[in-house]
Amino acid sequence: MSTITAQDTPMLRQYKSIKAEHQDSILFFRLGDFYEMFLEDANIAAKALSLTLTARGKDANRIPMCGVPYHAADTYIQRLVNQGHKVAICEQVEEATVGKGITKREVVKIWTPGTMDQSEKTDDNTYLLAFSSAGKSTLGYAFLDIHTGDYRLGITTDSCGLQSLLERTQAKELILPIEEKWHPPQWFNQLHENMTETPLTTHIPYLTSDRANEELCQKLGVQSLTAFGIEETLFDALPACWALIDYALMTQKHDLQQLTQLTPEHHHAHLFLDRPTIKNLELVHNLQDGTSHNTLFETLNHCKTALGTRALKERLRRPFAQKENILQTQSAITSLKADLLSREEIRECLHLIYDLEKLSSRIASREPAPKDLIALKNSLKALLPLCEILPHLNTGIPKEILDFFDTLKSIDSPFQIILQDLESKLLPEPSTFLRDGNVMNPNAHPELAELLASFKTIKTWIQSLEPTERQATGIKSLKVGFNKVFGYYFEIPNSWKDSAPEHYIRKQTLSNAERYVTPELKEKESILLTGEDKQKALEAKLFQNLVENLTPHIPFLQTLSRHIAQLDLLQSLATAAQKYNYVCPSLSETPQTLIMQAGRHPILENNPNIRFIANDIEMTNENHRFVLLTGPNMAGKSTLMRQIALIIVMAQIGSYVPAETFEWSLVDRLYTRIGALDNLYAGQSTFMVEMLETASILNTASPQSLILLDEIGRGTSTYDGMSIACAVSEYIHQTLQARTLFATHYHELTALETQYPGISNFNMTIQEIDGKLIFTHKLNQGTADKSYGVHVATMAGLPDQVIGRAKSHLKGFDEQGMSYIQKESKNQLSLF
Ligand code: ATP
Repeated sequence: MSTITAQDTPMLRQYKSIKAEHQDSILFFRLGDFYEMFLEDANIAAKALSLTLTARGKDANRIPMCGVPYHAADTYIQRLVNQGHKVAICEQVEEATVGKGITKREVVKIWTPGTMDQSEKTDDNTYLLAFSSAGKSTLGYAFLDIHTGDYRLGITTDSCGLQSLLERTQAKELILPIEEKWHPPQWFNQLHENMTETPLTTHIPYLTSDRANEELCQKLGVQSLTAFGIEETLFDALPACWALIDYALMTQKHDLQQLTQLTPEHHHAHLFLDRPTIKNLELVHNLQDGTSHNTLFETLNHCKTALGTRALKERLRRPFAQKENILQTQSAITSLKADLLSREEIRECLHLIYDLEKLSSRIASREPAPKDLIALKNSLKALLPLCEILPHLNTGIPKEILDFFDTLKSIDSPFQIILQDLESKLLPEPSTFLRDGNVMNPNAHPELAELLASFKTIKTWIQSLEPTERQATGIKSLKVGFNKVFGYYFEIPNSWKDSAPEHYIRKQTLSNAERYVTPELKEKESILLTGEDKQKALEAKLFQNLVENLTPHIPFLQTLSRHIAQLDLLQSLATAAQKYNYVCPSLSETPQTLIMQAGRHPILENNPNIRFIANDIEMTNENHRFVLLTGPNMAGKSTLMRQIALIIVMAQIGSYVPAETFEWSLVDRLYTRIGALDNLYAGQSTFMVEMLETASILNTASPQSLILLDEIGRGTSTYDGMSIACAVSEYIHQTLQARTLFATHYHELTALETQYPGISNFNMTIQEIDGKLIFTHKLNQGTADKSYGVHVATMAGLPDQVIGRAKSHLKGFDEQGMSYIQKESKNQLSLF
């Protein structure tokens, strides 16, 4: 930290004292039209933003500085925040007065990775995530998106739950108690240390649960948090909840009126997806480039609003685990799918609706731009026809949504009040910036109307000046003009300048003309100019009043947003169901059922280069509860498992599914290990990752879970791997009793079928015609005879010499087993 010295200018002293309070942020210090950065901040920012580093002062007092223009600051701030920095914005907070000394400056906002809306796309959440320790083995957590008001809390009991939380929230910033008071379970520390992308972590003082409870009740305006369904079992998470508010207040510097709800996360109500499953299934982001291309989200996303899109992402990461929710969604999709006309009408209305959640938060921060309020107005207007359509539909849309839309029609509903206020007070096409004026409708404000009327009179007078002055002076070429430097003037060409009247005061000489003013013209001009400043100030005040009037309606706007999101999500799933010819899956009461006829992969089936082959499978408690899947490389084992996992996710978000029929009993936890990813950075090998993930499954799965394992045990020696694969299969089948598909190239494992009723061998068949492989991609009962690895290697283009040698070794191994190697060594032939 740089200390204040006697040589420092008053400005630098001010800078240093403000910087001292914001040491962990880059300070954007407003000087005129620039944000300047000094000293170490300048070094960091110049490098991070490729700015030219200059210097201020001389010799020993020389300090590094760089700057960005204030009107372009947003992109620079965004870039710094994306790189994990915090940026404190320091503004002048009083008018500069001559001779009064240094102008007062304050930090008015701190942008951080968890508080800045970092996504280019408007349909993502940006979460701040906080933890509080809740005893030796559990962890309280809370997360908050200040841009949407999404604010939740829960308890997690193991590393698996924590990883899943990190994956679904994608939090870029963590809040923890100050270090000496932070005693998390050991598994938290292990994970935190090993995170490959460590989120920015800030330690702040925490309150106790009791104090946090009191503060939260006060902030959220409730007597007790039970109003939000928060029970005592979650109280250990309250310090984390309050820490988020504390931190958001500290950085945002406004009262966070968008926080109106605190939602408890009840894990039993949702299908649990652990981190590798969310990643591997590519539910929302693909593994190639992190975009949503070729993901389940992309296939199902036919939403028309950012609200619906966000709700779909959230639903995919946390599908339902409760029958009622699934059936209710199915019933809405059934009717919306059937009623194409109404669905199209709904889609047209939704198309015009902006991101009301984010607009509400901008209103709460008292920082909306005129275009935000116009977007709000237009969104509300688009809802009017929707209110008319919905009650007449036989849609099966949840009654709660229908009733809500019905209330909007009432003349005294907040909906009508807001709409009326916006329509009457704003101009239909206001200026982009409030500072430019011409935003408010003068008809709604007598003072503004009066001011504008007086401008009109003066402007009419000025317009009439040219003809009247021409007549009065007899100068036919006299003109009235205006420029920013001299204001209004009369212009007389040189040939007539001797005829200029005496009361004309010369103001400017041009090569071919003279320009004049008169006291009267000056007076009118001054009325006009001071009037314009008055108008801008008045409009700013009126706009702020309008925003203040809207803030009490934020809870209403958030409820409205939630209902629109749900409606949009339902129509999106119905649209996908129709577009891709999905069917309604049927929920079975018989535990451990999974019966699929002609099931398809929801993403692969849309690939125009693939003719997708549908497959059947029948798993019940009595039959084939554990499917051991063998088959050659490239036969389609992984695809089938992924397809089943994706269909389960679809079924449990309430969606229709790509199959002829699909019947299943509820899954509580879904695990897919299809291709383990290295975590070398965290010092873990591929095999270690595979074993960690397997351990996590074996420690947490239940009989209601579905486990899809691809080639467990491949990352080590043949016998080690086979032994592990065998033991894992036995444990899952005998102890966990979960539905399982286990794909393997260890053909030896197929013997398990004879030992354990319930374990069944299936294979993906291929045909070999004239030494060529034909992949049928068809699932059949029974075992595969071999893996055809050498064939696939041939297809991949390995050199002929290698393929020939591999074939000869394979023959040797097939005929003589492991003793082949010893014999070969004795023959002193090189094996590889
Ligand atoms: P390996 O054992 O080598 O990992 P695998 O048996 O898991 O192979 P997949 O990766 O599932 O094979 O499939 C290989 C390719 O076959 C896929 O990329 C896909 O293009 C195609 N494929 C798989 N299943 C089908 C199907 N049912 N219909 C059409 N094409 C399929």
